[in-house]
Amino acid sequence: MNKKVIIVGAGIGGLSTALRLLSNGYDVEIYEKNKTIGGRVNLIENKNFRFDLSASILMMPDPYKEIFSYVNKNYRDYLEFIQIDPIYRLFSADGTTNDFNNNIPCLTKTLEGISKEDSLGYFKLLSDVYEKYLISNKYFLQRSEESFKDLFNLDTLLKALKIHTLSTSYDYISKYIKDENLRNFLAFQTMYVGISPFNGPNIYTLIPVVSQLYGLWHLKGGMYSFVNALSKLILEFGGTIKTEVAVEEIIFLKGKAIGVKTSQGIKKADIVVCNVDFPYAIKNLVKDEYYKDKYTDKKLSEMKYSCSTFIIYLGLRKKYPQLSVHNIYLGKNFKENIEAAFKGTLPKSPSLYIYCPSRIDRSMVKNEGDCLNIMIRVPNLLFKEVTWDKDNINLLTDIILSEVKSIKGLEDIEENIEYINCFTPLEMESKFNAYAGTAFGLSPNLMQTNYFRPHFKSNKANNLFFVGSSMHPGPGISLVLNSSKLVTEEILKQIRK
Ligand SMILES: Cc1cc2nc3c(=O)[nH]c(=O)nc-3n(C[C@H](O)[C@H](O)[C@H](O)COP(=O)(O)OP(=O)(O)OC[C@H]3O[C@@H](n4cnc5c(N)ncnc54)[C@H](O)[C@@H]3O)c2cc1C
Repeated sequence: MNKKVIIVGAGIGGLSTALRLLSNGYDVEIYEKNKTIGGRVNLIENKNFRFDLSASILMMPDPYKEIFSYVNKNYRDYLEFIQIDPIYRLFSADGTTNDFNNNIPCLTKTLEGISKEDSLGYFKLLSDVYEKYLISNKYFLQRSEESFKDLFNLDTLLKALKIHTLSTSYDYISKYIKDENLRNFLAFQTMYVGISPFNGPNIYTLIPVVSQLYGLWHLKGGMYSFVNALSKLILEFGGTIKTEVAVEEIIFLKGKAIGVKTSQGIKKADIVVCNVDFPYAIKNLVKDEYYKDKYTDKKLSEMKYSCSTFIIYLGLRKKYPQLSVHNIYLGKNFKENIEAAFKGTLPKSPSLYIYCPSRIDRSMVKNEGDCLNIMIRVPNLLFKEVTWDKDNINLLTDIILSEVKSIKGLEDIEENIEYINCFTPLEMESKFNAYAGTAFGLSPNLMQTNYFRPHFKSNKANNLFFVGSSMHPGPGISLVLNSSKLVTEEILKQIRK
């Protein structure tokens, strides 16, 4: 009989691990607490509009395609990738606008429009960070880092020194770029893993550089199309997905996980894979101190966590061609306002990420207008200074909309709102059990990456595994897909032993 695997949580990590294990002959059952699957990659649907709940930037399409080839399927039968051009439109509070294209002549024109010196600096930055990317992709992102010797061998240490990640992203960028808007544009993107560019390691300059070199993509129908494709494949391979069934506890006996306690009773398994945000899962689903291993409540409270996000969803009656698909708006006093999210306050002049998928994908809207997600970084719930009550939400919404209205051509946006909704850190916490309502889980700072991130396999129960954003290699859909590949290899290795 095939080994039975229970997967707790139907986020990208849970779904992709389920699919890989099914294709290796395991009998897989997924339990998801919510009505819909996908976890943080989810959907808000309204009469006229379809919004991606959170993730919208598709970098590095290869990991998305790899899961299809892993199960011998052609991704083209399930997904339509559309290349985005320009990759970003940049607006600044000082009124300047610039497009950043992958096309080198277009890019050079934009950069030379800023200054010849910065154009040169930008290309040098691309070249230097590209080298780091090649090293980290080969030596860190695709490797499991489960054992001490994976990290601490001479070869890996030399490579780690080569990608010398000690200065902050902002300082590193500043060595190459003089123009403040261009610096801030690059620094803003390094924040996509929930770390401050003024504090976090410069390895995250990989984010703007990889986007610039490899491009950005959109999935027809939005990011949720990927969740639908995974779910379709899981069912085709004979897997089971049970929604609205919350797992209350992982049950152990004599050094093994023997199943889970759910709202529908106890379910037994040979292997348990937990996709619930690691710190939440260890704190709440692993009740026996022994099986928590070193992750006691005290240890969890001492660990560092990524920031959260506040998102406004706007369904508009009118099109705004001034916006591209991905837009960044740099507010005044960039540093002070960006750091607010990491110091426990709300920004007074926020910088914004504005996503307008309807610019290139009319399947996201049913009217003649546009749909927008407007996102800012905010403190996670470990900071108690900010309360997410109605008054504060309304105030923050007004501040954000007044910044949006300062963009040329968007002055009348408020009059054309047909639908408005928002998503706060409180919902991130209650809906997905995201520890402290963070957007990206455990902070991927230097002391919490690679070997130092929680390991896929429990040290105390060798048939309990973890997958997702808070694990190695880190947050973001592509990395979580890598994490599912690595955890599957770990499970298969165990069988071969
Ligand atoms: C606002 C925001 C913007 C982002 N933007 C991008 C982007 O542009 N590009 C990108 O690549 N990435 C982006 N990300 C990151 C990306 O979305 C995440 O890294 C990824 O989706 C996390 O997947 P996961 O499987 O680790 O976890 P999750 O999505 O958190 O999945 C965990 C699942 O477990 C379920 N669960 C929890 N507790 C239980 C329980 N007790 N029983 C049963 N089920 C349970 C949850 O409901 C959830 O479905 C963004 C994230 C956020 C929040």
